[in-house]
Amino acid sequence: MVMRSNDDHPATKAAQALGDIEPITKSVTPPLYPATTYQRDADNQYRNGRVYGRPHNPTFETAERLLTALEGGAASLLFSSGMAAASAAFLALRPGDHVVAPEVMYWGLRNWLKGAMTEWGLTVSFVDAADTGAFARAIEPGRTKLVWLETPSNPTWAISDIAAIAKLAHAAGARVAVDSTVATPILTQPIALGADLVMHSGTKYLNGHSDVIAGTLTTARIDEYWERIQLVRSNVGAILGTFEAWLLQRGMRTLHIRVERASQSALRIAEHFASHPLVAEVLYPGLPGFAGHELARQQMSGGFGGMLSIRVKGGEAAAITVAAETRLWKRATSLGGVESLIEHRQSVEGPTSPVPPDLLRLSVGIEHADDLIGDMEQALAIAHR
Ligand SMILES: *Cc1c(COP(=O)(O)O)cnc(C)c1O
Repeated sequence: MVMRSNDDHPATKAAQALGDIEPITKSVTPPLYPATTYQRDADNQYRNGRVYGRPHNPTFETAERLLTALEGGAASLLFSSGMAAASAAFLALRPGDHVVAPEVMYWGLRNWLKGAMTEWGLTVSFVDAADTGAFARAIEPGRTKLVWLETPSNPTWAISDIAAIAKLAHAAGARVAVDSTVATPILTQPIALGADLVMHSGTKYLNGHSDVIAGTLTTARIDEYWERIQLVRSNVGAILGTFEAWLLQRGMRTLHIRVERASQSALRIAEHFASHPLVAEVLYPGLPGFAGHELARQQMSGGFGGMLSIRVKGGEAAAITVAAETRLWKRATSLGGVESLIEHRQSVEGPTSPVPPDLLRLSVGIEHADDLIGDMEQALAIAHR
């Protein structure tokens, strides 16, 4: 019996980047195509479908096709960054359109929506990410064109109910897009829950090695909105470099083991510090006491992700000291890499940030969890000396 590749588990598809063998050399890894242009046929046609390097680059296709398979979508596009991918989703709307988005979300995108995209002509309502009723009140039938979700949402890891909010949005004639960067396609498949569009900062878990800035969009179906998104990428020129696209597909081959390991360690670390005398609160969807825990259990499978936040007793100064005293947890922004990172979030987001001043955001890498716990213990002890 020949098994169809469609039957393979997602982990198998990812490990082999869909299993393609390059036909000329029989190479098991895809080639890099740096070409900026493609030859026309003698009869003036472009039968291979590729004309020029801005809209077309075959190196993108490995990661795009793999992501489409993992997300259960119809097509994917790589972008030059997560922000470029998200921006394309908004620029493909029209001035005058209304958008609903979470108040606590990736801060760079929140600022872009509040600033330049509002000047461009979008009206944006910001609501509590965890409050489905707030979405229901904010969505205006006929006027709202896009509901943006980020779940778990940065950096409090609130969980939004994708299925329930998709129903509300669709009833009002709006699409739903999910920034699924933190959940990854391993733990959540938003399209199966009703989402129309999935966005990732490929910079994070998809690539996983803190050496590529990239973004992705995956659509549930090919329609006029998706065609507008394709045009935005091509016309704005928000394309990834060839080598970065190649690195991204390489990173995605180990996505499963990295996300599984980070999720297991994050749960252990969250449980360890949840009742710690020097910690005021641990925010992690995997903890039974977390507000969104039950919803996360339904919506996520295989783990609750590698991101958590701790609120340090002693306030802002103690939190900053903890981040200063860790050795293994590196003080840096970003997330989803093999190395663990720690960040005092409010210092990054500035005085208007809705994030509490005692909050440290932790991105759990693939190191041994005991080492990460020990390092955090000694830093907490120094901060409270
Ligand atoms: C990093 C990040 C982004 C932005 O992605 P870039 O690749 O840095 O442009 C968007 N959303 C989330 C959740 C992120 O973590």
